[in-house]
Amino acid sequence: MIINNLMNKRIWLSLAHMGGREQDFVKEAFDTNWVVPLGPNVNGFEEDLAKFVGQNRHVVALSAGTAALHLGLVLLGVKTGDEVICQSFTFAASANPITYLGATPVFVDSEVDTWNMCPELLEEAIKDRYVKTGRYPKVIIPVHLYGMPAKMDQIMQIASRYGIPVLEDAAEALGSELNGQKCGTFGELGVLSFNGNKMITTSGGGALVCHTAEEAQTAMFYATQARDNAPHYQHSKIGYNYRMSNICAGIGRGQMLVLEDHIARRRAIHTLYTELLSDAKGITVMQNPSADFNSNFWLTCIVVNPKEAGETREDIRLRLDAANIESRPLWKPMHLQPVFADAPAYTNGVSEAMFNDGLCLPSGSSLTDEDIKRAVRIISQ
Ligand SMILES: *Cc1c(COP(=O)(O)O)cnc(C)c1O
Repeated sequence: MIINNLMNKRIWLSLAHMGGREQDFVKEAFDTNWVVPLGPNVNGFEEDLAKFVGQNRHVVALSAGTAALHLGLVLLGVKTGDEVICQSFTFAASANPITYLGATPVFVDSEVDTWNMCPELLEEAIKDRYVKTGRYPKVIIPVHLYGMPAKMDQIMQIASRYGIPVLEDAAEALGSELNGQKCGTFGELGVLSFNGNKMITTSGGGALVCHTAEEAQTAMFYATQARDNAPHYQHSKIGYNYRMSNICAGIGRGQMLVLEDHIARRRAIHTLYTELLSDAKGITVMQNPSADFNSNFWLTCIVVNPKEAGETREDIRLRLDAANIESRPLWKPMHLQPVFADAPAYTNGVSEAMFNDGLCLPSGSSLTDEDIKRAVRIISQ
């Protein structure tokens, strides 16, 4: 009975994975009564993150990655009526904050190597928006989908040619590198997420990666209700309540102790899938396009060629589900979402094809090799 239960336990896509020290930091917060959205854990977590991403960046811990995207757009001056270019192939949280500010998202499709923003299409979109509106878009949001670094060299070159700042959505890419540089440090501002299913979690949280201490100060100012320097509560700007709690940051400090292990484990899971699926007809495992790219492989993704495989992505997903294994279609592109039906979009069919034929496989760092083998047995049936 027990063996049976173990063999049939649900295998999830990506679960929170505690290292063991998290509760020590949380207990310390309780013992010292730092149960507020600031304190030693918040400062410590920010320092740990800054050290981890490198490049002398300054990190501001926030209540969510979505909050970081919103604040990033505020800091870059996005206002009502502006246009913001956003990668179409992403989770809705990359695009939603654009609309919080009364701005319009302009969606740009992906290229086949990384599945991220296509640089050529980006430049085409920038030029065309200028022709159509007489203005350049205010910000560019590329995303490192499933941990795979976008082609940031080209994207940053194009962005600087037109003087447009880049807000880099690295929510899924903590630890990923392009040419040895950590994702989140390429753009003017970078966004990290510590939601329950990401590389590490604070139960819910995010961070904004800034180039200067001044920018980080401004981000903190807006994240804490934009209080002017006065003994009473005085406000000259509209603020937000976006700071991370000292309790959540305690979880984050504990998670930072196992971050490198989590990254190594996700990469090992990807390697195992690649080996085990090498003979599977019509199934391709997403890979780093060259040695310059070093994905954290937050999620291992496959693409199913229905003609070669003799079945569709959906057939495989349903078979996995029947075997108590969670998998998920790739993100539905934003330009195909009902809520963004009216937004301008520059498309080439790449993200739509990936959405039709792609599948995310269980990739959490707590999964065992046996879990992965069980998933592969079902896929290969
Ligand atoms: C998770 C995620 C976000 C949002 O982060 P939260 O912390 O959940 O608000 C933004 N962009 C992408 C690509 C994500 O995967």
